[in-house]
Amino acid sequence: MNLHEYQGKEILNSFGVQIQRGIVATTADEAVEAAKKLTEETGTGWHVIKAQVHAGGRGKGGGVKLAKNIKEVADIANDIIGMNLVTPQTSAEGKKVHQVLVAEDVYYPGDNEPEEYYMSVLLNRSNGRNMIMYSTEGGMDIETVAEETPHLIFTEEIDPATGLLPFQARRVAFNLGLSGQAFKQMTKFVQALYTAYEKSDSSLFEINPVLKTSDDKIIAVDAKVTLDDNALFRHKDYAALRDVREENPVEVEAKEVGLNYVDLDGNVGCMVNGAGLAMATMDLIKQAGGEPANFLDVGGTADAERVEAAFNLILKDPNVKAILVNIFGGIVRCDRVAQGIVDAYKNMKNIDVPIIVRLQGTNADIAKELIDNSGLDVQSAIEFQEAADKVQKVLS
Ligand code: GDP
Ligand code: MN
Repeated sequence: MNLHEYQGKEILNSFGVQIQRGIVATTADEAVEAAKKLTEETGTGWHVIKAQVHAGGRGKGGGVKLAKNIKEVADIANDIIGMNLVTPQTSAEGKKVHQVLVAEDVYYPGDNEPEEYYMSVLLNRSNGRNMIMYSTEGGMDIETVAEETPHLIFTEEIDPATGLLPFQARRVAFNLGLSGQAFKQMTKFVQALYTAYEKSDSSLFEINPVLKTSDDKIIAVDAKVTLDDNALFRHKDYAALRDVREENPVEVEAKEVGLNYVDLDGNVGCMVNGAGLAMATMDLIKQAGGEPANFLDVGGTADAERVEAAFNLILKDPNVKAILVNIFGGIVRCDRVAQGIVDAYKNMKNIDVPIIVRLQGTNADIAKELIDNSGLDVQSAIEFQEAADKVQKVLS
């Protein structure tokens, strides 16, 4: 589950990570109130107004702007709230901005220039260890840094038995070229950040940039936090942070009815039981010259109700030109699934795409008969290849 920047920062701060302080606002008036309150606390009077959407690259898209007085706070907040923010990480339509974070300006002038670094914490799946990835090249697109100057990206791997050791935090500060007060602050920052990552059961932290202020403070200016869904039962307060407006509406609906659905770009909808078979079915569709429009695992109980719910979800996608149902009847009997498909088809008036059904396993032959005799525009197949050929035929 992804969080908004302001939510991620609150979690970081609760574990002692220094952040750029801010207050979230849903209207220009609220933004002005927030700016006044922050000015009382910090006194700088300059603020940065940041669109809160689940996408990076907001700065490039005009979703992060500096306000030098209260009037600018109101104007900028007015512009950003309600806009469709397009960034390199959104679709061409962009994402609707419902709220902004009004934050203190932390790039104030001083003895030194402010400096931006990159830091992330994630699981290295090749060896099963958490790692801290960091770079002197902050504020930029890290993929570009990795491509053009890979030697400027460092990693620190953490042994799960010992946790992050103090010398490792010092090595991070050293590799970032820090000394004196900034060095000390960075070692504290890294330790707090890693503690936050572990204690919050996150699967990704990406802080880009981490800022060294002109007076040598180390602050998280941005925060991309992904929580591990499987650990949310341990964090009821975090679970409440979900913003469904940021999620694919069809995927949200699928979750509500207990179906595993992931929206994809192709033209063949698929309904399958079991994740492995779903993967194989997607390969099959590609082989037949189509592209899967979705990943959909209906799970073990493929009764009429679930089949109908699944059809409904698939048909919400206007790109779908055919539907392939591929169900293996192990525990569930194929004839019951077939009956479910026939019932669902009869209940739904709006099915106008060809459906190919492959039922294999217990009572597969009875199932095929049921479908063939239903009088509906549903084609049945028993073999994998047969199903692929039929998909190919309806696509061409
Ligand atoms: P992103 O574009 O979605 O990654 O959003 P960020 O939170 O990283 O902000 C984008 C850029 O805005 C940063 O790289 C900074 O250059 C700039 N920025 C963020 N906070 C401040 C601030 O307090 N003052 C100034 N002057 N610039 C800021
Ligand atoms: Mn950023």
